[in-house]
Amino acid sequence: MPGSTPSPHGSLLPHEKARPLAKGSTYPAKDLCSQCGLCDSRWVAYVRQACAFLNQQFETMETRVHGRSRDLNNEDELYFGVSQRMLTARLEPPIEGAQWTGIVSRLGVRALESGLVDAVLCVQQSEHDRFTPVPVLARTPEQVLAARVNKPTLSPNLEVLEQLPGSGIRNLLAIGVGCQVQALRAVEATLPLDNLYVLGLPCVDNVSRAGLQTFLDSSSRSPETVVHYEFMQDFRIHFRHSDGSNETVPFFGLDTPKLKDVFAPSCLSCFDYTNGGADLVVGYMGASFGRQWITVRNDRGAALLQLVEAELETAPVQSRGNRKAAVQQGIDAYDKAVKLPLWLARLVGCVVNAIGPRGLEYGRFSIDSHFTRNALWLRRHHPEMADRHIPSFAQKIVNRYRLPAL
Ligand SMILES: Cc1cc2nc3c(=O)[nH]c(=O)nc-3n(C[C@H](O)[C@H](O)[C@H](O)COP(=O)(O)OP(=O)(O)OC[C@H]3O[C@@H](n4cnc5c(N)ncnc54)[C@H](O)[C@@H]3O)c2cc1C
Repeated sequence: MPGSTPSPHGSLLPHEKARPLAKGSTYPAKDLCSQCGLCDSRWVAYVRQACAFLNQQFETMETRVHGRSRDLNNEDELYFGVSQRMLTARLEPPIEGAQWTGIVSRLGVRALESGLVDAVLCVQQSEHDRFTPVPVLARTPEQVLAARVNKPTLSPNLEVLEQLPGSGIRNLLAIGVGCQVQALRAVEATLPLDNLYVLGLPCVDNVSRAGLQTFLDSSSRSPETVVHYEFMQDFRIHFRHSDGSNETVPFFGLDTPKLKDVFAPSCLSCFDYTNGGADLVVGYMGASFGRQWITVRNDRGAALLQLVEAELETAPVQSRGNRKAAVQQGIDAYDKAVKLPLWLARLVGCVVNAIGPRGLEYGRFSIDSHFTRNALWLRRHHPEMADRHIPSFAQKIVNRYRLPAL
């Protein structure tokens, strides 16, 4: 096989023996599969060890990638993972049409322009549907920019690994969410690459394309014109429509009974919200409204950030408020699938926004809420795997709350 990594023992590595499979032919994680794309490449040969939902291995991954696993006695690391540095930032000027200010896209462009990498693994959109992801190995800045903005659906990013052998790509920047990065890290040593840089996005509550439609239909006044949306730090979902208008809906006004089944089972059993295996993470959850939140996990992450730091307006991370009572109330309300009338939801949203958690404390609010919900979901739906699948850092967080009976 041209371009593939020769086995140190002279025999073929498992992926060299494996032939790429027809799409959809095997997904061993079954209902928990996040469609990360690994199984749509010849690296399916490693799926039993590599799949985030078959083999939870945070400690091993963090130790291999960052030189140590997260310090569970350090509150910031317990929540946000191994970290050298955390900051908030805005790209100045922002990139038009990016999800936030476009730090991720600019980083991809600079990584190519500086010669650090030969290609960037990123996600463009289908020409027929703005929300259908099309993973690519981008070789030009224009191709990276064409991937800006979230496709808020499960994306088979790792299927493009199939294109690596024979491509001439030896240095790669991979942009991806936690489940994709966990599988990528597990097969990293077998990839035909000299250098792999990983730029991670935090991620929760992803959906299939059909699930996204249910969400849009139940949440927006005009689902067919939504071009962009984000759950923001002001406890509202901000929808942007194709005519340029904006719409906001309070989190507390969502149709919980309808939406409980919308999230992908993989996301309901995920504890990698902050993308523990990436070199650098760029999200928004630990920043104040309108800013992005950046975590540098290791020296590679620092090298990536350096590519764009001069173009960023930066500030230290901040934290305000106390999330704990709100998280506990949210656990009970979600479990009972409470749906508030819109006027009350707006009122609760205003109060929480005025006095609620901010900055890193908002990040911890969101992590606590999702980890408790997911631990409960897993214990109810897959009790046989809960103990081995919930990592120790998540278990420590979940233990801080009172969960409803199974
Ligand atoms: C499904 C999803 C859920 C997210 N949830 C959160 C969250 O809860 N909290 C938080 O802080 N941040 C979250 N993020 C990250 C955040 O929304 C922004 O993507 C991030 O801050 C980068 O913004 P930007 O303007 O720099 O990105 P842009 O410059 O617009 O670039 C966006 C990048 O996202 C990549 N991408 C798009 N869709 C996908 C996908 N489905 N899978 C993998 N990669 C994709 C593209 O390749 C592109 O490079 C989420 C991202 C995704 C994709």
